[in-house]
Amino acid sequence: MDRHILLNPGPVNLSNRVRQAMLKPDLCHRETEFADLQNRVRENLLDVYELSDEVYGTILLTGSGTSAVEAMLISMIPENGHVLVIENGVYGERMSRILDVYGIKHMRLHHEWLETINLDELDAALKQNNISHVAVVHHETTTGRLNNIEGIVELCVDRDVSLLVDGVSSFGAEKTMFDRWNIAACAGTANKCLHGVPGISFVIARRDKLNTNGQGRSLYLDLKNYLKHQDTNGTPFTQSVQCLYALDEALNEFNEQGGQRSRQQQYKKRMQIVREGLIAMDIDPLIDEQDCSCVLNAFHLPKDATYEQLHDLLKENGFIIYAGQGDLAKTIFRVSTMGAITEDVMKRFVSVMKKIISK
Ligand SMILES: *Cc1c(COP(=O)(O)O)cnc(C)c1O
Repeated sequence: MDRHILLNPGPVNLSNRVRQAMLKPDLCHRETEFADLQNRVRENLLDVYELSDEVYGTILLTGSGTSAVEAMLISMIPENGHVLVIENGVYGERMSRILDVYGIKHMRLHHEWLETINLDELDAALKQNNISHVAVVHHETTTGRLNNIEGIVELCVDRDVSLLVDGVSSFGAEKTMFDRWNIAACAGTANKCLHGVPGISFVIARRDKLNTNGQGRSLYLDLKNYLKHQDTNGTPFTQSVQCLYALDEALNEFNEQGGQRSRQQQYKKRMQIVREGLIAMDIDPLIDEQDCSCVLNAFHLPKDATYEQLHDLLKENGFIIYAGQGDLAKTIFRVSTMGAITEDVMKRFVSVMKKIISK
């Protein structure tokens, strides 16, 4: 099969070196070679945002991004905690569902998917309730919106409310200020902005903010247990060794390419090509440029085209786009900038779009 260019928000196109890394020798997860690999990946993940190992612990999990979000929520919130979940898309709503499943006390600050976070309502909710944590999605992949964390932080810091951040589709690319934003924990994954393969996700958590009381809410997803083992060269359960090999290599590549700031620049350049190209064809972006992430933008479908038609024609030409979710499924499509692709690929995408539209 020909190589498709994946413009969906993960899994992403791999570089050859990341793909080759999965072919390294078989490894037992109780051997020192595994401990070295695990330690290196954990350190490199902290280095993405220049975090200190004394203050923050990195926990590697074998699972997709949602497992990291779930582990974060159930491991950080104490019995007497009260979470305010900000919802303006699928992933904010998913956090509320996780808290529902575990019966963890929370309230929702619900928005329609196209809305920005209403800071006045947030302020009022924080005034009226005794909130311990605000849970928020950094980049809401549903619409491509980069949520205004600075605005939230201004309301939270003086009240000593800490943040639980779903950074699954922003970690590695978007600016994230762990200390300044009072982030208690942030969940991320290997296979989005870091360009690894799906199978490994992670949480970076303030060590002093992990809930260490009681036996925890889950056997498998208890971060306290993982951290204890991973701090001492171990792992409580079998990890996906091959996925870790790939993430290790992806992080080497990430560092060689200049780290988070240059990845952000790379994505911005790719997105500019797509955005300007599509606007020139009268395809309108879903939200304003200043509110968009560099990782993904959503666009209204071209006039008289269904998503399926557009998807299939693009696929014939080697490009995979991504549908909208929920009510947006029939009206938008999404384009991501992640993965081992180039600006030339984005230019080719634009010209293929032009050819399709003119037919
Ligand atoms: C992709 C994504 C997730 C997790 O999805 P998985 O399919 O479990 O990897 C969570 N949050 C956001 C914001 C995402 O974009």
